[in-house]
This record gives sequence, structure tokens and C-alpha cells, in this order.
Amino acid sequence: MFLKRERETLNKLFPGLDENLQELSLMEMECENSPAIKLFRQYGGPGLLVHNKYGGSGASWLQAIQVQRALGSRSPSLAVAVTMHHITTVMIQEMVTDQSGCSLIEDVAKQSLYFSSGFAEGRTESNILESCMQVKRVEGGLVISGSKKPCTLSASMDFMTASILRPSQAGQISELALAVIPSDDPGIKRYPFWGSWTLLGTESNEVKLDDVYVPEECVYNMGDPSQLNSILTKTFTWFQILASSAYLGIASALVERILIAKKGVANERVALITEIEGAMSALEGIAYLIMNNKQDESTVAQALFIRYLVQSTIERVTARAIENLGGIAFIRSPEIAYLFASAHALAFHPPSRLSVTSGLDKYLLGEGPLEI
Ligand SMILES: Cc1cc2nc3c(=O)[nH]c(=O)nc-3n(C[C@H](O)[C@H](O)[C@H](O)COP(=O)(O)OP(=O)(O)OC[C@H]3O[C@@H](n4cnc5c(N)ncnc54)[C@H](O)[C@@H]3O)c2cc1C
Repeated sequence: MFLKRERETLNKLFPGLDENLQELSLMEMECENSPAIKLFRQYGGPGLLVHNKYGGSGASWLQAIQVQRALGSRSPSLAVAVTMHHITTVMIQEMVTDQSGCSLIEDVAKQSLYFSSGFAEGRTESNILESCMQVKRVEGGLVISGSKKPCTLSASMDFMTASILRPSQAGQISELALAVIPSDDPGIKRYPFWGSWTLLGTESNEVKLDDVYVPEECVYNMGDPSQLNSILTKTFTWFQILASSAYLGIASALVERILIAKKGVANERVALITEIEGAMSALEGIAYLIMNNKQDESTVAQALFIRYLVQSTIERVTARAIENLGGIAFIRSPEIAYLFASAHALAFHPPSRLSVTSGLDKYLLGEGPLEI
């Protein structure tokens, strides 16, 4: 019963993928060069959130979060890595205005191509929308240099997407933009960055850009980064629900082990599942909300409340799940500690809970618009 709906949706959209993932061992999928990332590509996974008109699966938000949870329960790295890809596919579809953009999205769906999503630049306690990339205007485009880290899917990406602050004609920085660059550009170099033993399969290393020319048509405008405009509103909302469902899937893998091993006592098992299913229902609620309504700052606030709720549910549920699984299970296999540690990384995705608390508080008190 547990995870049944999620796995049915995965199987409906990508028949056979789940069976193939089950044939791989967890730790095999969680190392560098993960076979799970390749399998997802073979099954057309990169097209999950690409509209049917571009040749993608055209999944609804409800289906997308179910797929994310189902994947997270099999391979944490796969679910986290494809979160970054999906967020880019939905952002670009939202911003696309010309034929070259439509062709890009069609290629992603039809050839199963991966995007990376380079926003972070390895500077702690900085806003994710701040960028220190050097950007020069040249004839017909921009020349970009700088470093993005961690950049998930740095090895498997077919296109790197890099956030930049684009200078206006007059030279002032006016807008946030997303540059799309083929990953075989000679100005792109990869360097080791990820020093943790968790989520190694996400390929979250450093990507450096050295004088990379990007034609104007491959740069997408995201507007003023200090305002929650329509694209930023959607991006923050979508990201929170895709990431939360992936990490909830990782926590679900621990809970599932209790059911399989019939560990613990009835009221403990039911209490854990009550919590985790409650968190999933909250995610389903916001998925329905964004499928049926216009998004505004209240949707972003709602998405953040639900993301932090999922985060704290994961903290409680995983601690009690490993306690119920017991010491011998913990000692005999690295998988329990692995799932426990990986599930907690939801806390590290922007915007972090503490960084946004005062903005959310002011918004709730009616003291101004939501600031992230
Ligand atoms: C597996 C994984 C893959 C990732 N892949 C990518 C990727 O491909 N692309 C990408 O762009 N990003 C990615 N990220 C996100 C990126 O790593 C984060 O931006 C980064 O982890 C932020 O770390 P930080 O130390 O700067 O955290 P911060 O958010 O700076 O937080 C550090 C601490 O300071 C606190 N803090 C920060 N600001 C404030 C404040 N104003 N007031 C009070 N407290 C504050 C935080 O709550 C936290 O406790 C990934 C993250 C993970 C975990």
C-alpha cells in the first residue's frame, strides 16, 4: 500500500523504469557516474515536465511530485539531481518566446537531454539570486566567466544553465537572466567540489566558465531579482515542491524498510506513516492549487510553509524510523545511515529556513510584500 500511488504514476509515465531501478543496489546508484541517471535518460525522464506540444510527457504537478517521491525512495541522488533539471525545463518553457527556444525544449524532450541548473556560486549566506559572474556585452550576445558550485548533473548535463546579472546597454546591472550553454563548449571546465559521501550520484561539482560566448537568443530574462515577479514566483514555488517530494521519498525509503521487516509496534508504524502521508498530502494540496490557480506571492509563502513542514517531518520521521529499524540494521549495512543523512539535505536548499524566517514573519504581520 505504502508508496503504491506514487509507483503507479511512475510506471504509467515510464513503464519499466522502477523495475530496472530495483535491480540496482542502493549504493551502486549513489556513487559517482550513477547508472540511475543514465536509466532515467533512457526512459525519457528528462521530458517529464515538458509539455506534450514539445514532445514531452506533459505530466501534471500532481504526477510530478508522485514521480519525485517514487524516485527518491529508490535512488536519493537521482531524485535530487533531476529536481535541478526539471526546474530548468519548466522555467525555460515559461520564458520561451522564439523558435530557437522551442527547438531547445523539443530537443530536450525528444533526445532526453539533461540541463544543469547553476545558480549557487559557493558563497555561504548569500542570496541564491545574487551572482558574481563576469558578464560583458559583445556584438550579438554576452561573454561570461566565473564559477558555479555546486552544479548538479555537472557530468551528465547536455546544457549548462547559469544565472547571471545582465548589464543593460548603459552598463548598469538591471536584470537576472539565465544563460543556456552547450556543455561541450570549450570554455566550460569541471572541477571536483562535492566532498561529502552522501548524494555523490548527483554530480554536484564545480563548473567554471572561461570567456564563454552566449548568443542573445540563448539568454532568458528573469527580471529584477529583488522583486517576486511572475517567473521568480513560479520558480520558487515549483522548486520547493519538487525538492520536498524528492527528499520525502528518501525518508519514505527508511519507513518502507520498517514495513518490509515488520519492525517496531503497530502504533509506532502507524504514527510514522501518519506523519509522512500528512506531509505528502500537503504537497498534493499545493500541487492542485498551482494546477488550478494563478500563482502569486501567497503561493510562494504556502510552498515555503509546506517545504519547511516536510523538512521537519523528515527530521522526526527518519530519527524514529532508524530507531525502530534497530542497531543491528544500522551496523550491518551502510544504507540506513546513508538514507538518514541524505534525507536531511533538504535543509540545505535555498531559501534556507532561517534565512527566510524574518521575511515570512513580516509578510504574515502585513508589514510588506514577501521578500526572499
Ligand atoms: C545535493 C545538493 C545539490 C545542489 N545543487 C545545486 C545546483 O545544482 N545548483 C544550485 O544553484 N544550487 C544547488 N544546491 C544549493 C546550494 O548548495 C545552496 O545554495 C548551498 O547549499 C547554500 O549553502 P550555504 O552554506 O550558503 O547556506 P546558507 O543558506 O547561507 O545557510 C548557512 C546557514 O546560515 C543561515 N542563514 C543564512 N542566511 C541567514 C539569514 N539571513 N539570517 C539567519 N540565518 C541565515 C542558514 O539558515 C544556515 O543555517 C544544491 C544543494 C544540495 C544539498
